[in-house]
Amino acid sequence: MSAAIFFDLDDTLYDFSGASRRELEIRLAALLGEDRDRLPEALEAYEAIREPTWHEYMAGRLTFEQVRVARFLQVLTRLNLRRERDQVQKEADLFVSGWMQGIRPFPEVEPLLAALAGKVTLGVITNGHPQQTRTKLALLGLDRWFDGSLVLASEAVGRAKPDRFIFDLALERAGVPAGETVMVGDSLESDIAGSLRAGWVGAVWFNRTGKALTASPAGSRQRLAVEPSFAGVGAQVRDMVSWLERKGGAA
Ligand SMILES: [Mg+2]
Repeated sequence: MSAAIFFDLDDTLYDFSGASRRELEIRLAALLGEDRDRLPEALEAYEAIREPTWHEYMAGRLTFEQVRVARFLQVLTRLNLRRERDQVQKEADLFVSGWMQGIRPFPEVEPLLAALAGKVTLGVITNGHPQQTRTKLALLGLDRWFDGSLVLASEAVGRAKPDRFIFDLALERAGVPAGETVMVGDSLESDIAGSLRAGWVGAVWFNRTGKALTASPAGSRQRLAVEPSFAGVGAQVRDMVSWLERKGGAA
């Protein structure tokens, strides 16, 4: 197989934001208890500390497990509330085990993977924890489409998207050159700019929320497609695969 397609996982193959938001509301309400009328405030606080704590994790100052608890603790601090450490730990654990239970792939994901399997090499590159990534893929029923060695989780690799290292490692594992590899993802910086800067030939930006294309990350020899629905993403991926086949044939 001459071409490879790598997918981001969260908010690309399934609705991570929606699923985690629903469970977060349940867990924060439980943590607030008699103060649960302050839930909107707690959600706002959580949103505000989500990025900074993620950066703490990426910088290696917090482990994946510590981030969950740290977020709940910081929400309580911002709201000037006190709760037992055990209760915070319990709600943080329930949050993580709970939100994943209802996850389903976006409707057009399976048909696309089925159409690509055997034609191109398929992989996943995700910024996250390896065990949690395996669990997510199994719960989504998508694990059968991906060889384990081609599911790259940043915490196992030691570097995260958009760092070039993880994209280079993906190519090495797939045994496919950058000129025949395409990235699909919802993050303009991590997935799209990251892969294109690593020299990958194409990228499909799944832009479900209509974010502005703030920069033009693709070079002259690269292709970038932007799609608001996964059906559109699928069409673009198929189109890029045919383009790669023609390009390969012409070379
Ligand atoms: Mg994502």
